[in-house]
Amino acid sequence: MYDFGERGIDDFGHTHKKIIPASRKLIRKTKYGPRLKKLERKLDVQGYDIPRQDIKCLKLKNEKIIRVGSDDVDANIKEFRRSILPYLNKAFTKEELAGMELYIEYPSKRLIAKKKFGGVSSEWLSDKKKKFSIIELAHKKDGLTAVHEMLHAVKYKDGRVIKNVHLDEAETDLESMMRLSPKDVKKIDCDDGYYDFVKGNKCKARREDVETIKKNCDLRDKEGLTSCIKKNIKKTHIGKIKIPRKYRMH
Ligand SMILES: [Zn+2]
Repeated sequence: MYDFGERGIDDFGHTHKKIIPASRKLIRKTKYGPRLKKLERKLDVQGYDIPRQDIKCLKLKNEKIIRVGSDDVDANIKEFRRSILPYLNKAFTKEELAGMELYIEYPSKRLIAKKKFGGVSSEWLSDKKKKFSIIELAHKKDGLTAVHEMLHAVKYKDGRVIKNVHLDEAETDLESMMRLSPKDVKKIDCDDGYYDFVKGNKCKARREDVETIKKNCDLRDKEGLTSCIKKNIKKTHIGKIKIPRKYRMH
């Protein structure tokens, strides 16, 4: 399904706390300004979206509206409802999805052109201190990557992101796996994401990590999962990975 680190590695590019202006006046001065001029009537959340014409709003299970855009949004939205939405609704609680400011680029031309990553999420903070996330997905049927990227967004919204990007990525890989059904976990390529850094049998490592977390954490308590995984991460294979020098941040 993915090549080496297809999801995980690009998350290095997280634009943590990049500030973009939230007011129309200010956003006009950004690179989105010229486009915004003719599009601003179409903005669904004023100033928070990357302005584009082709945005659809759809409801998650808690009636929370998220925005999905693509170049052929009418044709793609059916597939989004079929292949992505059920995963998001299943993997997260109503509370987690509430208050979420989110835009999903689906499918993302940029990612398709790169041919490297299945998904990317970036985190933003407006000048009004409002947090929001942008997720890009390359593959239309890739609900598994959608869960991983959405988990980044939920963690950001709830202030659960940790400073160490590699550890954050490893924990997110592990946690997104724990939020999937056992059947879906089997669909993930063993070397996907940060599991590629695990030495030895990566499939076995995944299986053992699932068992370790199952034994130590209450999987039904989704909101407590991040902190429980944090507590138990050193007992897992993915918690002990060594990051190759070229990927180290400093
Ligand atoms: Zn990630």
